[in-house]
Amino acid sequence: MTSFNCLTPTVVFQEVPNEISLCFSITGCKVGCKGCHSTELWSEHNGTPLSNERFISYLKRYQGLISCVVFFGGEWQAPQLVEKLIIARKFSLKTCLYSGQDHISINISQHLTYLKTGAWQAELGGLDSKNTNQVFRNMETGEKLNYLFLKESPIQHKNLPINNNNLTHNQGELHHVAA
Ligand code: SF4
Repeated sequence: MTSFNCLTPTVVFQEVPNEISLCFSITGCKVGCKGCHSTELWSEHNGTPLSNERFISYLKRYQGLISCVVFFGGEWQAPQLVEKLIIARKFSLKTCLYSGQDHISINISQHLTYLKTGAWQAELGGLDSKNTNQVFRNMETGEKLNYLFLKESPIQHKNLPINNNNLTHNQGELHHVAA
């Protein structure tokens, strides 16, 4: 089985409105968006394997501190992604997938609380753009939630620091909000 590699997980605040999420960026993306901000995700050899055991260890470490798990990609390895989503729900966490594709298999979407679809198109902008092609939806209610990303001032694609030594956080740009 092809390994399900991820970069170092980070705690994020803006990708899923009203949730504190642990974010796993899965490598091996084949969408190939022009202007992709995260080309390090293109090679499936980047990152390290996210086994179920390692995933559970992260969830235990962050238990009580997060409310949601978000995957940036990984739909190209559906069985492994679904395993992680089922585990996350057993930890009473909400689940989210950021995909660059327009459609996601029901095999995956039935395990999602939230789903973002759509490739990055620079001329249309990301979720914080009224003209975006991307859609962020609550999969339990069907409601399109793009309005939650629209602000007077553009979203700053930075994660906030957490005042807790047990937490890591990403100081970098969040590609899939813009992507
Ligand atoms: S923007 Fe996201 S979906 Fe598009 S190529 Fe880059 S990593 Fe893949």
